[in-house]
Amino acid sequence: MFWNTAMETISAADLEALQIKRLKWTLHQTQNVALYRSKLKEAGVAPGDIKTLEDAAKLPFTTKKELQAGYPFGLLAVPLRQIVRIHTTSGTTGKPTVVGYTRGDLESWSELIARNLVMVGLSDEDVFQNAVNYGLFTGGLGFHYGAEKVGMTVVPSATGNTQRQIEMIEDFGVTAIHCTPSYAMHLAEVAESTGAELATLKTGIFGAEPWSESMRSELEGRLGVTAFDSYGLSEMYGPGVAFECPERDGLHIWHDSYLVEIIDPATGEVLGPGERGELVITPLVKEAMPLLRYRTGDITMLMEEDCPCGRGRKIARITGRSDDMLVIRGINVFPSQIEHVLLGLPEVGEQFMVYIDRVKHLDEMTIEVEMSRAGFSGELQDLARIQKHVAGALHNALGLRTTVKLVEPGSLPRFEGKARRIVDRRGAL
Ligand SMILES: [Zn+2]
Repeated sequence: MFWNTAMETISAADLEALQIKRLKWTLHQTQNVALYRSKLKEAGVAPGDIKTLEDAAKLPFTTKKELQAGYPFGLLAVPLRQIVRIHTTSGTTGKPTVVGYTRGDLESWSELIARNLVMVGLSDEDVFQNAVNYGLFTGGLGFHYGAEKVGMTVVPSATGNTQRQIEMIEDFGVTAIHCTPSYAMHLAEVAESTGAELATLKTGIFGAEPWSESMRSELEGRLGVTAFDSYGLSEMYGPGVAFECPERDGLHIWHDSYLVEIIDPATGEVLGPGERGELVITPLVKEAMPLLRYRTGDITMLMEEDCPCGRGRKIARITGRSDDMLVIRGINVFPSQIEHVLLGLPEVGEQFMVYIDRVKHLDEMTIEVEMSRAGFSGELQDLARIQKHVAGALHNALGLRTTVKLVEPGSLPRFEGKARRIVDRRGAL
């Protein structure tokens, strides 16, 4: 099913023409922003120099730091009276980025979310529980308006009070839920401990954190849903930038609204399909806050083949963030790799914490992981055997020796928003 057949199945030639037209419009729009006037001048590019999509490579990149430096309204290309809403990023690393929306932006954003929701098989027959933070975080209102646009019955449950969330699913006959994957796991645990069956749930949409294929099968098994990956970032509109279709092999990104490039994060050179690098996006329809070649920090690649569903070229699932990536004794480690290993071991649960210390100039990584309830016999020699097994599996996957500490089921922190499983104490001396 398509929400907007003409745009979702646009031919390559028509798409290219549309992208060029919209890129030129976007360039024009950026000229209302002092930062872009000076950046283009510095790069020696005039808006009129951009005639083909390849010319986009002449344009300067935009970084998160530049957006932060523009706090609060320095990046807006329209007067404040045309801004009807603002959101912000979480601001965990310095000042948040403020994102402004015109009425037209809110319309475009809901349109893209509506495409995603219909793509995964949802319709006005569905009851949609939106179990993410409302407010300044874009995930809440973004999905809310997209789901309403499709005509779904929206339950704006937001986060917290898991027992009540479970009652809502059962009492309202909720068929689709949107939340973070870590909150979904928590929901499954609480549902299991209370014997709730969540029989009406069929679709799970999980985003705002990277999650692995093994977590997918875990969530699908425990919640009884088909799980879809959702990718977004507030600097664009929020969620809904890219989304899995029923093929669940890569994510569709709406090329009529986002010009996608993959670059080598070290050199800035544009990479071809099949080559993994940093995702760079130029939004093509944003009115309030146009951006040129925004460096997302997310690692992915453009896939080589068009998707059999008819919606064109996809990007691969995000395999990490350049700033989430840990460098331990010179080796690159993504938290998702650790999660993948632990989910493959029946003796331990899916909850873990990672601590990184510098001991005598050497990086030491300690991983605390909960035993699974079934594997928790309490026998000491059993504990030593499991510990060795987990450490060995991590060593194989990461190429690093780690210290593994087994802890009791239920003793590690649960996260209702974004999981914060990494504690890097190397700078704390
Ligand atoms: Zn597809």
